[in-house]
Amino acid sequence: MSHGPISYAHLGAASGAEPRHILSLSGGKDSAALAIYLRDRIPAMEYIFHDTGKELPKTYDYIARLEAILDKAIVCTTPEDSFDHWLAVYRGMLPSNHRRWCTRMLKLKPFEAYVGDGPVINYVGLRADENRTGYISTKPNILAVYPFQDDGLVRADIIRILEDSGLGLPPYMEWGRSRSGCYFCFYQQKIEWVRLLETHPVYFDLAAEYEERAVQHGQQFHWCQGEPLRELRRPERVQQIHENWERSEARREATRKNLPLVETLGGLEPGDDPHL
Ligand code: SF4
Repeated sequence: MSHGPISYAHLGAASGAEPRHILSLSGGKDSAALAIYLRDRIPAMEYIFHDTGKELPKTYDYIARLEAILDKAIVCTTPEDSFDHWLAVYRGMLPSNHRRWCTRMLKLKPFEAYVGDGPVINYVGLRADENRTGYISTKPNILAVYPFQDDGLVRADIIRILEDSGLGLPPYMEWGRSRSGCYFCFYQQKIEWVRLLETHPVYFDLAAEYEERAVQHGQQFHWCQGEPLRELRRPERVQQIHENWERSEARREATRKNLPLVETLGGLEPGDDPHL
């Protein structure tokens, strides 16, 4: 792991103005680790957290603990208009992978409003062992940089950074959720919905209510791959999902033994932030 000085300031110099340095926190492990990784190297860093208003409560505790470690305020850029406002604007059409207005309205727009029109270097927590691109602003004054990729840091490094700092892993990982974000995020796998039901039943019920209300707007919508949450919550279905997951984990475990170490540590894991 590299601990050398890091500087991207020259990248923003073309505009003539000194660029701002901004790091968006998601409540997930990668952006938190990046903040800690860069804390002492980029003193001018501005930390922001785009609160969708639909996060799990412990995310706010995690952000508060991170703020103490960074010893710097994390600016919460809660959008002026809430998720429910935008849901009404979109005539009750809940967001999904193919109509992802939630990220645009609750994350990207508040980010661009916060940034303004001056030059900005935006620090993004994609890891060296992730094979995906970010869902990031394309405004010409915002330049995205990827310090973990530049320095070759993989999942094991990120976990080490979090543990060494005393912050530890985000609370959602304790109960087996793979990503940060809204409690109803449509990127959750079936096993994650079951775990949400078992760990935070109130939030599962709230997600189910959104599905029920969508029907009243003439929308047939399911957060979870074509399966209504009221069906998924049946005890026999819950048990079946657990069993399916255990079987697929056993298969994955067998495959892992034949893979290089770097892949077993992170290459198979989805990214923890749906906004990257
Ligand atoms: S966490 Fe999921 S549901 Fe929430 S804004 Fe992001 S993509 Fe949309």
